[in-house]
Amino acid sequence: MTQITPQPGIMEIALYEGGASHVAGIANAVKLSSNENPFGPSDKARDAYAKAVYDLHRYPSSDHSSLRTAIAKVHHLDPKRIICGAGSDEVIAFLCQAYAGPGTEVIHTEHGFAMYRISALAAGATPVEVPERERVTDVDAILEAVTDTTRLVFIANPNNPTGTMIGEGEVARLAEALPPHVLLVLDGAYAEYVEGYDGGASLVDRRENVIMTRTFSKLYGLGGLRIGWGYGPSHVIDVLNRVRGPFNLGTPALAAAEVAVLDTDWADKCRTDNTRLRAWLAEALAEHGVPSDTSTANFILARFARQSQAEACDEHLKSEGIIVRRVGGYKLPHCLRITVGDEASCRRVAHAIGKFMGAVG
Ligand SMILES: *Cc1c(COP(=O)(O)O)cnc(C)c1O
Repeated sequence: MTQITPQPGIMEIALYEGGASHVAGIANAVKLSSNENPFGPSDKARDAYAKAVYDLHRYPSSDHSSLRTAIAKVHHLDPKRIICGAGSDEVIAFLCQAYAGPGTEVIHTEHGFAMYRISALAAGATPVEVPERERVTDVDAILEAVTDTTRLVFIANPNNPTGTMIGEGEVARLAEALPPHVLLVLDGAYAEYVEGYDGGASLVDRRENVIMTRTFSKLYGLGGLRIGWGYGPSHVIDVLNRVRGPFNLGTPALAAAEVAVLDTDWADKCRTDNTRLRAWLAEALAEHGVPSDTSTANFILARFARQSQAEACDEHLKSEGIIVRRVGGYKLPHCLRITVGDEASCRRVAHAIGKFMGAVG
């Protein structure tokens, strides 16, 4: 019998399930299951990606200096305190690998993003789930859960899959009240969708115990490239860079992301469209008897009376060629997460849900 066994914790990891992208038998299904930008990236980013084909024989930049400079310029940050990863998922993994491990705890919230638990387990640490208050991050509950062995606290603000967010004052209160051995990670995957919000960057600048993570996968429409970044205190960025592989990002990804972040007109257009269509979609669903919390991201968490109703609605949507996300794995079995698509997709999903709700009475 083999004695080849993985490290403790690894076999507790449930495989991450991405949003479905096909419905059997339907050719042009609309995919609203992965919070992707329906318009895709800036045309300039597509061009930069295509041009990078001529450099494929060269190793990519290892310090990501041009991308960090571009990010710093647009977001008014110190480029020396930015780290880039293969999606913000990789930055999350670096954090767990560097700061957590056997005998330590990693806190995430009740309906928090799945990668926090997965990365904590992969590092051998113990994930600790903290209740939310009506699908909103509860700072006091987090503080109560902190122990001597806590190393990291992850909150997404706005959160996925709830779409809710807490105010900057609450986030600052959390950062200030944490004991000195705990690092607060502010996951800002959807920060760009909130007009005027810096994702927590100014808090990072004021403190030594806060890091922010961001991504090009959502508003920037580059999920297929796998590119994200983090902004933190120098001592944390130094640690993460020691864990990071020297060539963790390919040349096409670096080139496209650099141009994408500089194209603020495209980002503004995508944010404005999302805000308008999100409000329209939430109202349309509410009129059909399907409420949702006020979302600050590019999706809506549609709430049904029961799990069976949410599942039946999902089946109905699938039969109409519309793919949304079941969130039972996030302890929200009576909900469906629906990405805000383009106008036609929003109308299509609202119409289909209206038809379903009319039929169930
Ligand atoms: C989508 C998402 C991410 C990251 O995605 P990457 O594609 O790895 O950058 C991180 N956190 C949350 C909450 C997300 O929804």
